[in-house]
Amino acid sequence: MGSSGHTYEHHDLVPLAALINRELRNGKTEKPAVRYGYAAQSRKGEDYFLMKTDCQRVAGNPSTSFSVFGIFDGHNGSGAAIFSRDNLLNYVLNAMPRGLERDEWLHALPRALVAGFVKADKEFQAKGTNSKPFKLIFCCRTLICVNNKLKLVSSAGKTSGTTATFVIIDGWTVTVASVGDSRCILDAQGGGVSILTVDHRLEENAEERERVTASGGEVGRLSIFGGTEVGPLRCWPGGLCLSRSIGDMDVGEFIVPIPYVKQVKLSSTGGRLIIASDGVWDAVSSEMAAQSCRGLPAELAARLVVKESLRTRGLKDDTSCIVVDIIPPDNKIPPSPPPKKYNKLKALFFTKNYWKSTNKTKKLSAVGTVEELFEEGSAMLAERLGNDKPTAETGGIFVCAVCQADLASNEGISVHAGWIFSVSSKPWQGPFLCTDCRNKKDAMEGKRPSGVRVV
Ligand SMILES: [Zn+2]
Repeated sequence: MGSSGHTYEHHDLVPLAALINRELRNGKTEKPAVRYGYAAQSRKGEDYFLMKTDCQRVAGNPSTSFSVFGIFDGHNGSGAAIFSRDNLLNYVLNAMPRGLERDEWLHALPRALVAGFVKADKEFQAKGTNSKPFKLIFCCRTLICVNNKLKLVSSAGKTSGTTATFVIIDGWTVTVASVGDSRCILDAQGGGVSILTVDHRLEENAEERERVTASGGEVGRLSIFGGTEVGPLRCWPGGLCLSRSIGDMDVGEFIVPIPYVKQVKLSSTGGRLIIASDGVWDAVSSEMAAQSCRGLPAELAARLVVKESLRTRGLKDDTSCIVVDIIPPDNKIPPSPPPKKYNKLKALFFTKNYWKSTNKTKKLSAVGTVEELFEEGSAMLAERLGNDKPTAETGGIFVCAVCQADLASNEGISVHAGWIFSVSSKPWQGPFLCTDCRNKKDAMEGKRPSGVRVV
């Protein structure tokens, strides 16, 4: 007896060693080069972008560098878009635990992205609240008709909101977090085109429609005289077509800032990311965008994607595009155009299946060479922040998992502390939230009416 136990233990260790060897053989420890370009045509002046290639995980150590790219497509003004561009990265990085090795850092990133997005939303709304007497829900509205009922829609008093598609590139690992409908696609060198984001549009996302309705929102189209319905699905209060955004303090709090997050690892042949606002995606498909600029350097590629969008649809909306090439280190020129024929039929089917799929989709089926590391789209904060394992490090000092505010020992409320009858509540288990963030969490989950504060 006993001897078989040893055999299994050793057997279990083999795959990890093999993986490490394979990584070394593939030269994946060497970092790829990142080349990028940006182009835009403005109509409303509400699209903003971020391109930053000099970030460092460990300050002063260039070998820990990573890049960040983002598109922020604002609505009802540009305040939320500018605020997110200027602050989101700091909020995300402040939510990262200190002293992590690279792999741990990448592993911690999805949770920090959730915290950073929620903090950006909360801080932007707080900024707006300070300049107004209280959270305005019924100020400066016009009556319109939806589902044969009169609704209030914002007019002069509306506050801005924004989509955020935020991409962090560390070596071959690409992490994308997004709210709204500014899409990021991956054209994997030697693979196919895949979408790394989910469109949070009520019109196209049944799962989000269900969530909004369950949280007390109402989804419907505008109707004109005679009852004819027009335009895309919107939700009330507010009349927004998106189900997730940053800002938007005059819509229901079920319009959440909790991002869909996907993390993938490219093969050592690299690939191209195209990040763009809906001005592009309403005009061209992912495949068309990728195809329109294959083989061209990033700067020119971005210009071509915008040009192709305008050619197809005209300048109906702000149209912005960032192209990022992730290039193997020994290949100083951008990826050359693949001479092989592109399989349009396969791409078409892949796109359709993707649209039908839920946030839980697990496969990048058209991209055999891309390894999927993480994917989560839940709008529930407790699911996204996970469980804190009890460690000696905390030493009795707690910070809010969202806003990073220090918590007194009796102050923190567990993110898992449920509604009064919840059987799954674990009120003693971290992560913990401050009172403000706990209030926000309850509001986002429809557990109390928007704008009602519990102190
Ligand atoms: Zn907090």
